[in-house]
Amino acid sequence: MEDKVSGLHHITAIAGNAKQNLDFYTKVLGQRFVKKTVNFDDPGTYHFYFGNETGIPGTVLTFFPWQNVRQGYNGTGMATNIGYSVPEGSLEFWANRFKEFNVKHEELFEKFGEQHLPFQDPDGLKIDFVVANKEDERKPWVTNEIKSDVATKGFHSVTLTLKRPEPTVAVLTGILGYHLLKQEGNHYRFITDSIDNANVVDLIIAPDVPAGLNAAGTNHHVAFRVKDDNILMDYREKVLSKGYNITPKIDRDYFYSLYFREPGGVLFELATDNPGFTKDESLNELGTHLKLPNQYESARAQIEKVLPDLN
Ligand code: ZN
Repeated sequence: MEDKVSGLHHITAIAGNAKQNLDFYTKVLGQRFVKKTVNFDDPGTYHFYFGNETGIPGTVLTFFPWQNVRQGYNGTGMATNIGYSVPEGSLEFWANRFKEFNVKHEELFEKFGEQHLPFQDPDGLKIDFVVANKEDERKPWVTNEIKSDVATKGFHSVTLTLKRPEPTVAVLTGILGYHLLKQEGNHYRFITDSIDNANVVDLIIAPDVPAGLNAAGTNHHVAFRVKDDNILMDYREKVLSKGYNITPKIDRDYFYSLYFREPGGVLFELATDNPGFTKDESLNELGTHLKLPNQYESARAQIEKVLPDLN
């Protein structure tokens, strides 16, 4: 990995019911539950992390399940679709599985020469399973029902819907190291060559579409991957030098983060590979304990009492 942004680190979205969210991602989609913790800014709410075996960056979708949150909707200034990479020949399995589990899904379609199967999670979050043109060598997490010939490999892409392209393109190309690969009408594909997977950002330019509402069933932010906190802080300088506001370094226990809102309205994060999810649980036990950051450990009993039931 280079000393540059290496594609996506994680994507964070908002859910309603916690148990419904957990069951959908682990049972229906076969993701590994890599960490059960709380929202560090709101410890009465869970923060769930789903990914592959180790929760390596580029595979990790995270949720804040807020039990009584209103329904959100997509619009401009948001990440409006998540693309997961799946093996060639697996889309029929997934279409059948979505029928079996009553998952809302649509017909297959092709975009930039790749097959997409679009569906929604129980809160209406929009996801596409994508068969990438290039073989995806990442090792998937497998379950009894979802074997390696169909299991997701991690992210393929994220799609941002924007009023106009220029301000966001300036960030993607001028700071994050992406370049334009293709354009079809109002769809633009940006890619970084710094890594082979989870390296695509698609833009949909929709000047007449109103802003979205960031609540249940929508994405909260998109995190880009850097190797460690030294490189993270180099990026902090870079973002500041371009005239954008950015947070100080924040310790998220499993990675270090910076947040800035790109001028098209999407909340971006930069997040490190270190220290990773095995910081406080062994690889075998990932996701099996409620892990709290140090500042909340003394309040564990009260926190456990208010968190929603997952059984
Ligand atoms: Zn994040």
